[in-house]
Parts: sequence; C-alpha cells; structure tokens
Amino acid sequence: MNYVSTRDKQLSVTAAKAIATGIAPDGGLFCPTEIPQLSKAELEKLMTLDYKGRAALVLGKFLTEFTAEELQDFCNKAYADEKFGGSNTAPVVSLADGKQILELWHGPTCAFKDMALQMLPYLLTASLKKTGETRTACILVATSGDTGKAALDGFADVEGTKIMVYYPVDGVSPMQKLQMTTQKGENVEVIAIHGNFDDAQSAVKKIFTDKQTAEKMDKNGMMFSSANSINWGRLAPQIAYYVSAYCDMVNNGTIKNGDKINICVPTGNFGNILAGYFAKQMGIPVNKFICASNKNNVLTDFLKDGGTYDRNRPFYTTDSPSMDILISSNLERLLFYVSGQNDKLVSELMNNLSKDGKYTVPAELYEKIAQDFDAGYCDDEQTAKTINKLWNDEKYLADTHTAVAVKVYEDYCERTGDKTPTVIASTASPFKFCRAVIEALGGTLEKDDVTQLDVLSGLTGESKPKPLAELAGKQPRFNKVVDKTEILDTIDLLIKL
Ligand SMILES: *Cc1c(COP(=O)(O)O)cnc(C)c1O
Repeated sequence: MNYVSTRDKQLSVTAAKAIATGIAPDGGLFCPTEIPQLSKAELEKLMTLDYKGRAALVLGKFLTEFTAEELQDFCNKAYADEKFGGSNTAPVVSLADGKQILELWHGPTCAFKDMALQMLPYLLTASLKKTGETRTACILVATSGDTGKAALDGFADVEGTKIMVYYPVDGVSPMQKLQMTTQKGENVEVIAIHGNFDDAQSAVKKIFTDKQTAEKMDKNGMMFSSANSINWGRLAPQIAYYVSAYCDMVNNGTIKNGDKINICVPTGNFGNILAGYFAKQMGIPVNKFICASNKNNVLTDFLKDGGTYDRNRPFYTTDSPSMDILISSNLERLLFYVSGQNDKLVSELMNNLSKDGKYTVPAELYEKIAQDFDAGYCDDEQTAKTINKLWNDEKYLADTHTAVAVKVYEDYCERTGDKTPTVIASTASPFKFCRAVIEALGGTLEKDDVTQLDVLSGLTGESKPKPLAELAGKQPRFNKVVDKTEILDTIDLLIKL
C-alpha cells in the first residue's frame, strides 16, 4: 500500500517511511491512496476478538509491510492489561437516549492520546529498521496538553529516539502541566512557550520542512519525526477503537450488524474524528459524524456555513484546553479524500490558509462534506451545566471535553430528531480537569492541584486514577520558558540531549 502527500501525489512512500518521517517534505500529510475494506467475514471475526486482536487486524489492513504476528505483539505490549486497567481497553458505557460513551482514557496518562501514543513507539522504531534508518529519531511535539504527556510516556527511554515537547505556558490545565514537567527519562525535554497551541504547531511544522535544520540534524546523526496526529502512525491506531465500539455494540445487542451509528467527537486537530471517517470508509456503517467544538468554533463555521475555513478570529483559552485550536491540521486529509485525492486543490487551499489564514472549498466539495458531517459548539458555562446534569441525572462523571461533545450531541438531536444510536468519544478522565469539574458540581476547590483529586473523589465517590495520584510531592524537572519566536533555537538543546 502506498502513501502520498496530500499536496503532491508524486511524493509516494511506504507506510514505514511515512511513519518514520511523520510529515511529507512539502508540508503535506501522508495518506493511503486506497482505503482497505473490512469484509463481512472479517467484521464477524473482529466481534470475537479482544481489543488487542481487533487493533492488530485493523492496523494490518493499512500497514502492509508489517506481519500479523508483529502487529499482534505490538498491540499486546501497547495495550497491556496493566497499562489500561484490564482487558477492556476502550469500553462503551450506555447512557439514556441512546448515548454510547466510548471511554478512551483508561491508559497511563488518562487521555485518549494513549490509545495511539502507547502504540506509536513500536510502530516508529520498527519503521526505522524497515527503512534502513540508522539515525536517531528526534520527535518534536506541539501540545495543547494531552499529546505532550502521552508522547513523553510512550517514548521515554525508547532506544534510538529523543523527544522534545512544546506547550503553551498559560494554555494547559495544572494537572497537565505537572504531568509533563515531572516526566522521567534521559531522552526527554519539555519547553513552555509564550504563545498558543497554533503557534507551537506552526513552528514545529516549519522546522520539519526546513532544509538547513535538516542538514544540521543529519550531520549529528539525527532526523526529525512527529508524534502529533499529522503522523500516520498516530492516526492509524485510532481507527481501531471505532471499529471496536461497533463490535461491542453488536455484541451487547444495542444494534444489529449492519445498522448505522452516529459518531460524535470533541474535536481540536481533527485527528480523532478523521479516524472515525476512515472506519466508515473501511465499511463500518456510519450515518453522521458530529464534530463538537468549544468556543474556538472555527470547525463549526466551516462545516455548518458553506465551507469557509477562517482562522482570523480571537483565540480563547477555555476549560477544554485540548480543543483550543484554530488550525485543525487533519482537515487537510479529509479535503484530500472528499475531493477525490485532488492534490492540486489541497495544495492551493493550504497555501491560502498560510497566506491569508482562510480558504473556501468549492461548493460541490462542501456539499459532499456536509452529507457526512454535522457540527456544533458549546461554551464553558454550558459545558459546566452539562457536567452537572450528567452527574445528577445519570451518575456519569464526564470531563470538560466529553461534556462539550454530549452537549453538542443533545443540541443535534433536538434540531434533527435523529434517533440513531450514537457513539460519543470520551477523551479524558474527569480527574485530569479537576478544577473545572469540581466547580461544575458545586464543590469547593483546594489550593493544591493534587489535593483536588481527593476533593473530586470525595464529591462523587469515584476513585482517583493512580497515575495522577502519584504526582503528589513530585518536583518538576523542566522549567524552561521561551518566546514563540525562539522555538527554532531550542533545536540545539535537542541535539545535545
Ligand atoms: C487531543 C484531545 C482532543 C482533540 O482531539 P483531536 O484529535 O485533536 O481532534 C479532545 N479531547 C481531549 C481530552 C484531547 O486530549
């Protein structure tokens, strides 16, 4: 199977090469030219497997240079029971009105990023071997909070790799910050920037495609790679949990095999929801994708209002910081597929985005997207109300990101009357966003961030996740803060690491 750049189909590589390099040299994103299909027999087989088996089979469809044994071995290690609190890696919890909450945060850093970032180190190190790469892979990560910690946890002390994470100094939750700054490992570096996630992501993307920096890295026996969802190796493992959720819903009688579902996702960089789109293209019956945003509602406007993507608007810092994003990178991949792999068009649109901060897709392309995607957004006040209501009515404790999705889904139902059973991606443990959740429940905040875990636990009777409780008393190792204009200079730090 071949992978090509969304901006130039002539740039064609193997899956291993796409994973090893992360982003295409022209700044485009690698995409498979064909989306593999799940046959009826395969889907039936998937229903009998555990999560590890399902993930191995789905990955095998895309990563054709990897053997089934290899992928099963990776899945056994990445999704080991002791890392995910048991064998039910991504459980589906049924709530009222057909809501099926797909909990993706049972991994070691308590956010859905673990579903891909526990796997990526295995895929990346194997890809380096398969491509004959002997240089050290230096992973640059821009994070709005959760990717940073999950990537650090996945790559800490992994041989042949180094990792450097950039996070917005005022744009992550206290718990997210503590998780990152206390990270162990000889090959890790964490840097705060004065700027927001988009600044970090844009700087990192620029470094990836800068020839001079690449030469400097090469001289030092190093190369860049990415752990953001621009890397195909990050996206591919995310497809598996939508397939798995469908299997679980058939197995528990919520739906019959062949019935359609909706998928509602709290969205930032558009990676998670795009993974759902791939599951649909593989053959999972999906009626609508519902793209949920917070007050940074650039995607809602794009999807609901004629196909103009315009990032020229205020950037808001919200209680759902992992969605505080105005440049949703993976939308580029959706445009590539819906336009029939029109690399010229994608390239033009992305040029407009970087020049003017906006673009408008052709009307016919917009119509196609609007057939599959609905959208909505919700502010912090509505998010808090939703957390409160879910707890009081259904005894379900949701984090801020999940609550955004639930609210947007409820609005969607009211507007459309659609009764299709809906998978709502739950992307983080509520304990990761203690302050906002405690306030939403009307509790009283403590000063210390780790003590908040006990407050939330006391309010709800839910037990605090061990990886977060273990942060108590840990001293931060990293305290460097740089301006967004100085990100390129920090590469020397990485080289010395
Ligand atoms: C990363 C993240 C999101 C957004 O996911 P994308 O793939 O960037 O759209 C939503 N919620 C949480 C908790 C996250 O960590």
